[in-house]
Amino acid sequence: ILFADLPLLPELHQALAKLEYSTPTPIQAQTIPHLLDGRDLLGCAQTGTGKTAAFALPILNRLGSDNRRAVPNSPRALILAPTRELASQIGDSFLEYGQFLKLRTTCVFGGVGQGRQVQSMNRGVHILVATPGRLLDLMNQGHIRLDRLEVFVLDEADRMLDMGFLPDLKRIVSKLPTERHSLFFSATLPRAASDLAANLLNDPIRVEV
Ligand code: AMP
Repeated sequence: ILFADLPLLPELHQALAKLEYSTPTPIQAQTIPHLLDGRDLLGCAQTGTGKTAAFALPILNRLGSDNRRAVPNSPRALILAPTRELASQIGDSFLEYGQFLKLRTTCVFGGVGQGRQVQSMNRGVHILVATPGRLLDLMNQGHIRLDRLEVFVLDEADRMLDMGFLPDLKRIVSKLPTERHSLFFSATLPRAASDLAANLLNDPIRVEV
C-alpha cells in the first residue's frame, strides 16, 4: 500500500509528497483506512513507529473536508499528551501535514505563561494539542470549551497514568460529548490502561505494532 492509494484530500497528498513520505509505516497502513471510516482505535505502539501521522492524517482529512471556520475556544479535535515536549512535537506534525489546509492548530502546556495560549485559543481553533493540567486550568477559567469536540486522542496513555494524571483525565473526559471519535495509544497495556481504554472507546479496532 502507498499513500497515493489512500483516499486523502489533495492537500494532504501534496504535503506527503513534499515530505517525501511515499509508503505508510505498519501502524499507518493498519489504522488509517479504519480511522477514515470513523472507527475507534486502541493502538499499542511506541514513539518512532509513525503513530503521530496515523492519527493526524485522518483528523486533518476530516476537518479539512468542510470549510467550517475556527471557533474561538472550542476545538473540534483534542490530542492529549503527557509532556510539553511531546505535545509540541505533535503540534509541529499537525502544522507540517496540514500546511496546505486552512486549519488552526494550537498547543497548550504548563511551565510557560498562559497569555499567548489564551490569545491563540481566542483567535479560533480547530485542533488543540494539550497536556492535561494546563488544559484543565484553561477549561476552569472558561478559555476552553469541549462541547463541540468531534475527535479525541489520548497519546502515551500508560505514561500519563504513571505520571498520576488519572484524576485529571477523568475530569476532562467527563466534559467530552459522548458521541465522538476516540483514539487511544499506549506503548504498554497494564490493567489501569486497558480499563481506561474500555471506558473511552466504542467497539475499537485493535492494532499492535
Ligand atoms: P512518530 O512515531 O509519530 O514520532 O514518527 C517517527 C518519525 O517518522 C517522525 O520523524 C516522522 O516524521 C517520520 N515518519 C512518519 N511516518 C512516515 C512515513 N510514512 N514515511 C517516512 N517517515 C515517516
